[in-house]
Amino acid sequence: MNFKDTPIAEIDALMERSWKAFLVYRERPLSDRAAFMRIIAEEMDASGDELITTAMAETNLPEARLKNERNRTIFQLKSYGEAAERGDWLEARIDTADNNRNPPKPDIRKMLVPLGPVVVFGASNFPFAYSTAGGDTACAFAAGCSVVVKAHPAHPATSAIVATAIQKAISRCGLPEDLFIHVFGTSTETGKTLVTHKRTKAVGFTGSYTGGKALFDWANQRKEPIPVFAEMSSVNPVFLLPDQMEKEPEKTAEMYAGSITLGVGQFCTNPGLIFGIKGDALEKFKTVLGEKIAGVAPAKMLHPGIAKAYHEKKSKALSQQGNTLIKESTVKAGELEGEAAVATTTASVFINNTVLHEEVFGPYSMIIECADEKEMVEAVSKLEGQLTATLMATEKDMLDYPDLISEVSNICGRFIVNGVPTGVEVCLAMQHGGPFPATTDSRFTSVGADGIKRFARPLAYQNWPDSQLPDELKNANPLQIYRTVNNEPTKNSI
Ligand code: NAP
Repeated sequence: MNFKDTPIAEIDALMERSWKAFLVYRERPLSDRAAFMRIIAEEMDASGDELITTAMAETNLPEARLKNERNRTIFQLKSYGEAAERGDWLEARIDTADNNRNPPKPDIRKMLVPLGPVVVFGASNFPFAYSTAGGDTACAFAAGCSVVVKAHPAHPATSAIVATAIQKAISRCGLPEDLFIHVFGTSTETGKTLVTHKRTKAVGFTGSYTGGKALFDWANQRKEPIPVFAEMSSVNPVFLLPDQMEKEPEKTAEMYAGSITLGVGQFCTNPGLIFGIKGDALEKFKTVLGEKIAGVAPAKMLHPGIAKAYHEKKSKALSQQGNTLIKESTVKAGELEGEAAVATTTASVFINNTVLHEEVFGPYSMIIECADEKEMVEAVSKLEGQLTATLMATEKDMLDYPDLISEVSNICGRFIVNGVPTGVEVCLAMQHGGPFPATTDSRFTSVGADGIKRFARPLAYQNWPDSQLPDELKNANPLQIYRTVNNEPTKNSI
């Protein structure tokens, strides 16, 4: 099917329509937002096999993975809708008046309110969960915003099916038609025009550093700068500590072979760097990891651009002096396929060569041999911001390596012990975001209902009559949400 680019000249009018739809939608109660999101989920489910077979053809992802991803997307829509209705994310704060104080204290009530139209760029590696009706869109709808999605050019037909599901839900709920607008574009001009339009109030993006940073810069150069929540690149360092490694180097290597090659390595949480302390246990780990990696057959990557970038970046990393290939898939890869590979270098080579710090998006990982904790800490001090970091450690290791733990906590958004970074649970406590360049704003998450807060801002009402306040802040607390009243969290009325 041929999807024509949305003409640039049409973007101004469609952003104006999105703004008008926002003004209507933001007035609808939280319960309406939750119902709307439940119905999008229902419509996505009803899209059945057609959605899965279309996505399989466009992304090369297998059926089981796509079915799981659709379930996850449905769960996100429903659970973020429920969270919107529960209202904790609103951060409602009420400080009542005190006329006996000198000077008298006014009545002040604050809550989060929606920003306005949000432009979302679908991701190539999650055609459902981070795309058209994915986490960014769900959070924006939950916050009370209208959404304009730019379909990822690698899966336009998949995006169109999901867009139809959203449009059906809009119609079933009697919401404004332009609450959701779907845009196609194969040139960067489309993205630039959307981000720089005066009606756009925030941006959600998952993809390359180059793309995310360009959007971020345009957003900041506007007359009215706007927030861009871009998830870009992360190498997700892993630290193998000695007491734990003495116990089970082989088992750890098997677990990591699975994580490095999961989904042909096309996950933002793929473990790209593994640091260990030189010794027998690390040698055993390398040997087993190499054997397992050699046995993984190459598979097709998401799109030709990603396959090309993988081969180029892997070759560049392997051509650096002092970085040596341990093993790669024994079966030769086809042009669009990604072959698994694992390399090794020393901490001193790594510390002095920033090319080795860059993300190689695909099933490639590098083991860095450190002499001791001091060298490991020095290597960490050279790393940029990360979505995750992982310790393979016993409690003894954690007591023995305080400097490492302190240094790593500076650079990551999620700090894991004895696990793998791939697999991101959708729950309220999740943090999926980290210091730059993992994301452009480390204060927020793109997974879990706290992600709703990205698309809202605080508004304080001072001395408003009760009848004119939003329901969320009225004395009687008609929505029965948790609020902090005079510093006490409570559902009680005032
Ligand atoms: P991408 O090239 O960044 O594209 C993502 C979206 O942003 C597309 O809609 C693209 O549209 C748009 N875009 C990209 N650059 C732009 C620019 N300068 N101005 C305006 N819009 C722009 O990402 P991708 O195609 O998914 O993958 C490419 C690379 O991104 C991968 O090889 C990998 O390194 C990285 N990646 C990282 C993650 C992660 O989670 N860390 C996930 C996916 C991909 P146009 O193509 O029409 O410009």
